[in-house]
Amino acid sequence: KKRDGKNGALLYDPLLQDNTRQRAEIERDIEAGLENDWLDAFFQPIVDLSTGIVKGYEALLRLDHPEKGIMAPAEIIRVAEETGAIIRVGNRMLEKALSNLVQLTNATGNDKTYLAINFSPLQFEQTLPIRFAALTSRHGIAANRIVIEITEATLLHDNPQIRTILDEFARYGCRIALDDFGTGYSSLSYLNSFPVDIVKIDQSFIRSLVADAPDLRHKSRMLVEGITAISHKMECTVVAEGIETEAQRDVLTQFGVDCGQGYFFARPQPVQHLVDLEDIHETA
Ligand code: C2E
Ligand code: CA
Ligand code: CA
Ligand code: CA
Repeated sequence: KKRDGKNGALLYDPLLQDNTRQRAEIERDIEAGLENDWLDAFFQPIVDLSTGIVKGYEALLRLDHPEKGIMAPAEIIRVAEETGAIIRVGNRMLEKALSNLVQLTNATGNDKTYLAINFSPLQFEQTLPIRFAALTSRHGIAANRIVIEITEATLLHDNPQIRTILDEFARYGCRIALDDFGTGYSSLSYLNSFPVDIVKIDQSFIRSLVADAPDLRHKSRMLVEGITAISHKMECTVVAEGIETEAQRDVLTQFGVDCGQGYFFARPQPVQHLVDLEDIHETA
């Protein structure tokens, strides 16, 4: 914020006003999305790197706006967290994700694939696991098909209930994935102190695996190999995010990374498209 030297009054700041206007617009889009049922869960396949078999899917929020088209979630989530709408958005997303999983299961006949769902730290309140259990059972989905994706932000969140909530999810048979691994501050210690089953290596590392600069390429390879080895020692499964090329896939397979996700395999898409893509299921 720029201030006028004399009396400290706020000067007109066009950038700030732009952001405020944009934010207000997203806020309206979120409310309209909830009201008019524009929110949906796209699914992106997660593939076993050594066999090519689809092990599961990650559910990713989309807002299908009648004028703007399909909106990506990053800003929607950020604004929803600021306004508190995240609770309603999260609940709606859970409904969509679980009913889409039922649809996919019925269409493919495969009830072994898992579904990974992203949670905001603000969704982690005491009654979440019990509400979630009721929801999965109403949809006839076994809890062991569900992966709860959280980031370091959830573990760092000033909330003494986090551990209890994670333990309760684990007791139901859900698995816990630590998302964006390697981007935070002290991620390694979390493997020790929380019930983590899956480590998702952040896509920034995957991108630099094939960087032009040999030094960056070398270092990121060492890091990915190291993270994979440590995660395996801690009995975690490793998933690499953001795989876009065959070269990346090959390096990751060579390092023993278990599973991968990225445009190289498939983009996040409506479940109906996955149903139509029968060939990706035939090996399962
Ligand atoms: P994330 O959990 O790290 O999800 C992975 C992101 O990487 C997704 O972006 C996905 O579309 C993108 N991606 C997948 N493969 C590739 C690839 O090969 N190349 C590139 N460049 N990107 C790839 P998306 O869908 O835009 O989601 C962004 C973030 O929004 C997610 O990051 C997650 O943090 C958040 N998010 C999405 N859905 C939800 C939700 O339902 N709840 C919450 N709390 N957060 C969500
Ligand atoms: Ca494997
Ligand atoms: Ca995620
Ligand atoms: Ca991620």
